[in-house]
Amino acid sequence: MSSEVKVLKKVTGNIQKHPKETEDSNALTSRPVILDKAMYNEKIRAEIALNSISDAVICTDINGMVNYLNTAAEKITGWPRQDAYGLPSHQVFHIVNGTTRKTPPSPVASVLKTNQPVGLAADTLLIKRDGTEAAIEDSSSPIHNWNGELTGVVIVFHDVSAARSMAMKMAHLAQHDFLTNLPNRVLLNDRIAQAIESAKRNHTKIALLFLDLDNFKHINDSLGHPTGDKLLKLVTTSLVASVRGNDTVSRQGGDEFIILLSDIKNEADAALTANKVLELLTLPHIISNAQLYITTSIGISIYPDDGLDAEILIQNADTAMYHAKDLGRNNYQFFKAEMNLRAVERQVTEVNLYAALDKHQFILHYQPKFNVLSKEMIGVEALVRWHHDEWGVVMPDKFIAIAEDTGLIIPIGKWVLRAACQQIKHWASLGLKDITVAVNISALEFTQKNFIADVQQILLETKVNAHQLELEITESVLMRDAKSSAAILSQLKEMGLVLVVDDFGTGYSSLSYLRKFPIDVLKIDRSFVNEIGTTAEDGIIVSAIINMANSLKLKVIAEGVENQQHLDFLVSHDCTEAQGYFFSHPLTALEFENTYIN
Ligand code: C2E
Ligand code: MG
Ligand code: MG
Repeated sequence: MSSEVKVLKKVTGNIQKHPKETEDSNALTSRPVILDKAMYNEKIRAEIALNSISDAVICTDINGMVNYLNTAAEKITGWPRQDAYGLPSHQVFHIVNGTTRKTPPSPVASVLKTNQPVGLAADTLLIKRDGTEAAIEDSSSPIHNWNGELTGVVIVFHDVSAARSMAMKMAHLAQHDFLTNLPNRVLLNDRIAQAIESAKRNHTKIALLFLDLDNFKHINDSLGHPTGDKLLKLVTTSLVASVRGNDTVSRQGGDEFIILLSDIKNEADAALTANKVLELLTLPHIISNAQLYITTSIGISIYPDDGLDAEILIQNADTAMYHAKDLGRNNYQFFKAEMNLRAVERQVTEVNLYAALDKHQFILHYQPKFNVLSKEMIGVEALVRWHHDEWGVVMPDKFIAIAEDTGLIIPIGKWVLRAACQQIKHWASLGLKDITVAVNISALEFTQKNFIADVQQILLETKVNAHQLELEITESVLMRDAKSSAAILSQLKEMGLVLVVDDFGTGYSSLSYLRKFPIDVLKIDRSFVNEIGTTAEDGIIVSAIINMANSLKLKVIAEGVENQQHLDFLVSHDCTEAQGYFFSHPLTALEFENTYIN
């Protein structure tokens, strides 16, 4: 830029030196009457140079009146030369501060006053002749004549709108999530810090709501990432609709969101928002004509009660969220100090679980199932146990959920299937032919691409007849994506496996889907069996399920049968099969053999 100024100075100086030139005429565009050839050539060269550069150049005389614009200056300002010449510079070079919208001190006046070059403030906008604006960068310098006297000012500037908007875009991207355009963790941390400052001043509180969508992974895996992405965007809309304008909804990545509620009075304000979120999310999300249902688990931490900085508050809200998950999902929990202990426990379990398969720490127990009339043993359900070298026996409700969250359920589930099939083979060799063994299949296994191939492979490898293997899949897993469940079930059915809906009655089945599922057995959830003889309900649900199974021509089995009263009820309501402590607890393979073989 400085070289152009120099060229201009030199040219202006030369031209003004000519005796026939008037002082304030346009030095570069008016035709000099007498000009020696060298000087004329130099002038033309300068003019071409000035008009071909992308920087805009405006010159003024000693009074600050415009006496030159190059082509770029005409273009940027919208002022053609003939209109601009003779006007005060601030009219043609009309600038304001981008933030304050105020007119900054005139650079021309400043140069004329100080005889020194000046630059503009970074955030300067040029108001064009038509009123539109452009971000510019500029510098203004004095023009001197051959005697070194100040004769005017040259302003050199260029449009930085594109560069500035790119810079703003980059800044936005650095602070926002790409998919949802929500603030990301960087910006959230900033906002939390601000909110804490304001809460300190106003003696108010802030709340962080840590959300993790329930079972989002299954939706993503079974319906594909594009659908998952669309769902995340719809969830974003619901979340934003649940909060006030000055609250922040941010995405942490994956299916995790954090809502920052600033300036709240008490916990009840946070609970209100949490309820609103849970409620809004239960509405179906429509994606390509399909209705998707999603719930979320929310953990809440409060400043200053649960932490004094962003890091601790987020960590504690996260811990409370895990607690909400453990309590059956689709709920919110406030952070409590003792939760940290559970969180540590969970972490320790997770770390140990990773090594459990390699250390051969899993073992299957078998709970026999019975015909209620003949009391004959008709099969078993395989139930996994984890024999930890220090902790002893760990029951599935302590580790299956963690195995699901970590994906470890896939190798564990495969191990269970293989071990169950090997057991079938072993029992056959002891003379117990044709026994069926039921294996529980978790949500993640069921929706995993290789599941069917894995089952097939294990059957082949162990040479077990498919009809001896029952798969128990819970009702809620089947209903999560009924269409694809129907497809998976059909393939399994074709292979000859026996299909059982586990924990039936807890998963809101639609009858129309149940009809479409090629299933064989409904297993009544033990919570309903437990109600028999205790509540006013007194087995209403159990008898309704038995009726439903009969009308759908499905077998029905009751689990959790603990006493004679339960059994009598089942017999009198035509339920043919039962399982429970009343008949037998889960047994080791050896115990089972000692009791039921020979
Ligand atoms: P489930 O499939 O509903 O299994 C029945 C559970 O009820 C078993 O608990 C069993 O021991 C228990 N039970 C049996 N009879 C009675 C009774 O009369 N009264 C009561 N109160 N309970 C009874 P367990 O073994 O602790 O398993 C709990 C759950 O863990 C299972 O529920 C199943 O969902 C899951 N699970 C167990 N093994 C596996 C496995 O290998 N893979 C997967 N994915 N899940 C498993
Ligand atoms: Mg089961
Ligand atoms: Mg069950």
